[in-house]
Amino acid sequence: MKNVKEFMAEVVRKNPGEVEFHQAVQEVAESLFPFLKKNPKYAREKVLERMIIPERVLIFRVPWLDDNEEIQINTGYRVEMSSAIGPYKGGLRFHPSVNLGILKFLAFEQVYKNSLTTLPLGGGKGGSDFDPKGKSDREVMKFCQSFMTELFRHIGENTDVPAGDIGVGSREIGYLFGQYKRLKNEFTGVLTGKSLNWGGSLIRPEATGYGCVYFVQEMLKTRDESIEGKVCTVSGSGNVAQYTTEKLLELGAKVVTLSDSGGYIYKKKGLTDEDLRFVLELKNVRRGRIKECAEKLKGVKYFDGKRPWEVPCDIAFPSATQNEIDAKDAKTLVKNGCYCIGEGANMPTVPDAVKVFQNAKILYAPGKAANAGGVSTSGLEMSQNSMRTCWTREEVDEKLRMIKVNIHESCVKYGKQKDGYINYVDGANIAGFVKVAEAMIDQGVV
Ligand code: NDP
Repeated sequence: MKNVKEFMAEVVRKNPGEVEFHQAVQEVAESLFPFLKKNPKYAREKVLERMIIPERVLIFRVPWLDDNEEIQINTGYRVEMSSAIGPYKGGLRFHPSVNLGILKFLAFEQVYKNSLTTLPLGGGKGGSDFDPKGKSDREVMKFCQSFMTELFRHIGENTDVPAGDIGVGSREIGYLFGQYKRLKNEFTGVLTGKSLNWGGSLIRPEATGYGCVYFVQEMLKTRDESIEGKVCTVSGSGNVAQYTTEKLLELGAKVVTLSDSGGYIYKKKGLTDEDLRFVLELKNVRRGRIKECAEKLKGVKYFDGKRPWEVPCDIAFPSATQNEIDAKDAKTLVKNGCYCIGEGANMPTVPDAVKVFQNAKILYAPGKAANAGGVSTSGLEMSQNSMRTCWTREEVDEKLRMIKVNIHESCVKYGKQKDGYINYVDGANIAGFVKVAEAMIDQGVV
């Protein structure tokens, strides 16, 4: 391939309609092409051309009975993208928007992210167009059991180790694990994100959010800054948003927003620990809507149908979903003084918006670097399961922190420009690529 344009034309032709996948590949190709030019062995071995095709894709029917004994049918997927450096590893997403293109984008990103963690983890992603919202616990259980009744033949502790993502938390992981155990008659670390008393790791629920904040701390250090006192906007109110907020509050930042797909809440004085506890109970136990916070919490306003990027802040943490910051949002953020972005979500920023951040020379960390704490701690959960041991909270947190420091160093190594600006996108893409590419070359044409 001569250039990115030609390469992408082929990607689009071979993967029609998969717009999010095209977007993810384009971003990586733009970082890699200049690097491949300087390092022709990777081009000769057609490493990138191989990496954009999953090693295997599974698509299966998931029939289940709802509470009215009606038959419901969903589609299940597992994209096994790369096993070059370890078993396939990546979450399951249950959301009505799920389709093959979205899972291919997520699996592709996962390969680079997992490589950055320094742990022996390949990349994969899966899920279903099933929507857990509004379903009873029994319905969610029946769906999970049916989903696992097919998936179990394709996964295993040394083959493919799924975890959670949007719509898949500890409740779903429990039901999935129970069915796997029943079908295989074995108790192994085949899933991560398990509950503590049956094989889970301390800090795993917190890891993506905490890790994102640790990464932002490293970015701020490059400008002799710290998190304390900074005004932060956070989107989403699920797992990642909750623990990002918890860590930010612990470090003395002011978190002024949270959101869900209905709209966002804003508290000028900043959310308190008590407010966060209310959100945790609202979202994790009652599975309610964020707008309830405006009715129940003092000083909180709700903005229906809007995203929080219009609120002035120092640091923004997009932690809901892909493409949630467009170019207009990015310009507003920069205009209002935001100078740091830590992506808790995967690919939350559209390409034009990334350019806005980079042209403004603000600190911008892509998801594959910033949110790698979740999968890193999943890797630590796998280690603990294999060793049949359980590390303390402090031990896991310290390992997580060190992994994030290392990822930051890798990004600086490959992303620092002549003018001193750190292009974290290039840094993460090239560092992630090199390790996988070397393994692929070592293992021959596979
Ligand atoms: P959760 O399901 O716990 O929470 C998702 C949050 O995002 C909810 O508040 C949800 O609101 C909101 N959301 C989902 N879709 C949309 C949408 N289309 N528009 C606006 N808001 C939306 O998921 P997680 O917190 O686990 O995941 C959030 C992001 O972080 C995802 O991009 C995921 O891939 C990424 N991530 C997660 C990791 C993890 O360990 N969990 C690891 C690395 C990345 P609502 O309830 O209204 O749908």
